[in-house]
Amino acid sequence: MATKKALRCPTCRTLVLERNEDFPFCSDRCRRIDLGKWASGDYKISTPIQDPDLLEELARSNKTQRQNDED
Ligand SMILES: [Zn+2]
Repeated sequence: MATKKALRCPTCRTLVLERNEDFPFCSDRCRRIDLGKWASGDYKISTPIQDPDLLEELARSNKTQRQNDED
């Protein structure tokens, strides 16, 4: 297990640290998308908001983890 607590965002699969205020979602947008998904059945995903500081933190703590959302 990782030394830092992190889960993948249920909406976009970005790794999210526990200290993120929207944990386990990476952003309020993804939280709303997830809620909307359940409400409407729509599974469309908008471009996630990504905090550069968070990504940098994730890069340090998950060096073996591949990031595939850099587009
Ligand atoms: Zn997300």
